[in-house]
Amino acid sequence: MTKFKTQVINDEILAKLTLENRYKILNDNLSIVLSDDEFAFLTQVEDFCLKYEKDNNITHGPEEDFYKWTPAFGQQGYITRQHTFECIDLNYKEVGCAMDFMRTIALTLFDPMFAMSHGATTIGLNPIEAHHENIPVRLEALRDLATGKACGCLLITEPERGTDAVHMESTCDEQADGSYILNGEKIFNTNAPRAKWAVAYATAEKNNGSLMGQFLINTSWDGWNCERVGIPWINKLHVGHENLVNLRVPKEYVLGGPGKGREHLFEGLVPERIAIALRGVSESWGALTHAIIYANMRKQFNKEILLFQGMGFPLADLWSRVVTHTTGLLKFAESYDAKVEKYAGDLPQHIAQTMVGMASQYKYACAKLSRKVCYEAANLMGGAGFCDNTLMDDYLHISRTQEIIGGSRQVQQLLMSRALRRFYKEL
Ligand SMILES: Cc1cc2nc3c(=O)[nH]c(=O)nc-3n(C[C@H](O)[C@H](O)[C@H](O)COP(=O)(O)OP(=O)(O)OC[C@H]3O[C@@H](n4cnc5c(N)ncnc54)[C@H](O)[C@@H]3O)c2cc1C
Repeated sequence: MTKFKTQVINDEILAKLTLENRYKILNDNLSIVLSDDEFAFLTQVEDFCLKYEKDNNITHGPEEDFYKWTPAFGQQGYITRQHTFECIDLNYKEVGCAMDFMRTIALTLFDPMFAMSHGATTIGLNPIEAHHENIPVRLEALRDLATGKACGCLLITEPERGTDAVHMESTCDEQADGSYILNGEKIFNTNAPRAKWAVAYATAEKNNGSLMGQFLINTSWDGWNCERVGIPWINKLHVGHENLVNLRVPKEYVLGGPGKGREHLFEGLVPERIAIALRGVSESWGALTHAIIYANMRKQFNKEILLFQGMGFPLADLWSRVVTHTTGLLKFAESYDAKVEKYAGDLPQHIAQTMVGMASQYKYACAKLSRKVCYEAANLMGGAGFCDNTLMDDYLHISRTQEIIGGSRQVQQLLMSRALRRFYKEL
């Protein structure tokens, strides 16, 4: 079985565009900048993806349901490496931002939408990891999500409250037994139609951000109503529209009562933005490695197209952008990990503030990189870059979603411009 309806790329080139060859180009570029441990973990994840693709005859075609692959990747600990998960006895050795970069890049070259589905599970899992308080039902949810037994999602956005996320309309009403009744509408929540666990925000008083709470929901409960939103650019991901109707959240599932939600929401944005930056760079590598192989083989006017200046120079330009963003992001990831280790996870205010600013900068820059590189790489491949014969079509479209999710381009610019004001005030 093949991914495509009609073969457009010739046999010889198509045979060279394998995942294995694309990993080879990536590894050639990364081996000198990665530590031995990082490189070993990268190749470990790559080996798993290669074997999984071969053993399961995966074509990445439109008929495949990649949510079914999640348990196999979860068993290996490839949903996220942001945490050790000692609280549920997983005790991963390769953890932190840099190791999660390795996991992300290997998975994104394997299948970019599948990698994004893990990102959505991770933003649902992070609040549980931070606020489980060793309560058994929360640990059970955390285990399900971290090991890929189930998918997760995060419900912030509402139909009328997107960017202005803290002035929510969804409400939470406390009951005498400490449970809460949730009512409201949420939208654009990645994985939600396939998720077993959701983390949702709601407020004790409409439009009052200081009364927001954070709630863990089992989607089998009464009052959870979810339908799928069509987003053609990421056609294999399931994105949801939820109506929460008198949905009762028992006390032990309340991760943060009214007053705690806003703080929890902001603490979750930093890892989410870093994860989007990692994916942006990874998608760029996915598209770039296709274009490098193609331009070295495709001939026009009796010459490999790479050898025409109009082709070779722009491709070199993309390569230099991707490598410099990668090394910059890697340095940031390693510094972040070092600070987290030094301060045992409790970063001093001034460092945390700088890291928040940098997470915005990298989210902004890497989403922009992905948009630029994925389109230009497709363009440099001509019609072959736009047809369904390779993953190029997936890179092209997923790259267009990265600037809006996790805080839009304009919001990152707003945050960064405010940070510039702080520098001046401190003079
Ligand atoms: C593929 C996809 C996946 C998503 N996954 C999730 C998810 O898992 N969970 C979740 O909760 N949400 C998710 N979202 C929602 C996403 O976070 C929102 O779409 C985003 O926050 C923007 O909100 P909005 O769509 O309502 O746009 P609006 O807020 O209506 O914004 C429209 C435009 O106005 C701009 N704008 C708004 N305010 C300002 C301002 N003050 N200054 C300058 N410009 C401004 C925005 O940048 C944007 O360009 C997802 C969205 C997509 C497309």
